[in-house]
Amino acid sequence: MIRILGTIFAGLLGLAFGSFLNVCLSRWPEGESVVKPRSHCRHCSHTLAWWENVPLASWLVLRGRCRGCGAWIGWRYPLVEAAVGGLWAWQAWQYMGYQSLDILVFNLRSPSTLVSLIGWVVFQWLLVALAVLDAENLWLPDWLTLPGIALGSICTVLKTRRQMELSALSRPQLTSGVLDCLFAILAAAALILLIRWVYWVVRHREGIGYGDAKLMALLAAWLGLPQALLAFAVGVVLGALAAVVLLAVPAGRRGPESWASSKLPLGTFLCVGGIVSCLWGQPIVAAYLRWGGF
Ligand SMILES: [Zn+2]
Repeated sequence: MIRILGTIFAGLLGLAFGSFLNVCLSRWPEGESVVKPRSHCRHCSHTLAWWENVPLASWLVLRGRCRGCGAWIGWRYPLVEAAVGGLWAWQAWQYMGYQSLDILVFNLRSPSTLVSLIGWVVFQWLLVALAVLDAENLWLPDWLTLPGIALGSICTVLKTRRQMELSALSRPQLTSGVLDCLFAILAAAALILLIRWVYWVVRHREGIGYGDAKLMALLAAWLGLPQALLAFAVGVVLGALAAVVLLAVPAGRRGPESWASSKLPLGTFLCVGGIVSCLWGQPIVAAYLRWGGF
């Protein structure tokens, strides 16, 4: 029962934070404040009433259009809200699955567990944010990726320390856990920089930005190297599929601003890969290692 209630609560909280993220995603690229003015239509400046701000429900009631001018609000709003709500609900469901209420309360009393849990939902929120920013603006801001890498490292170290507290690990293992995390971050970023360099040597132009290298480092800090590589593989496959679909569109039907004539947002595909890896990474990596005979 407590598991179901907790999941619903986390999902609703996720919807609210997804709604706030939509405001951020519209205003950050323009350099506007995310606090003032109040939520308004970006076409006619009509200020939204409270009931036009309810996540998902308002969009459905208004059929995705502004009440003032009828302008199309776009798919991004309900998608972002549903994504953050769904991920947070999933996180709560997973977290509360393996423990009784007593153990849950005992665990949440430990500051490191609490920081890790909050960290994880922030990480999922960040992945949705970066996916949309790269898709809409080809922009992966340093002030999101770099703190994300720092927070990921802290949470990974805290998790290892918590395991040590519960006496499953010894002190040398804590040190090696910290070194593993550092190595994962550097290796993941190095992979992207290597691809960037090879592309430059072959094509004499920039293929992948530094933002993608920082995003890979972010994924490695949170997920560890094997799951970050899985996220990369999923991202590359999705990117390739998108490219094939775009190439199949006849040239005459492509608009001047279509993706086909510009760069594909690799960061978006990496974020989707990151979410896949977050949700199903552990069983996939384990199955792969078994299959490879490791
Ligand atoms: Zn309007």
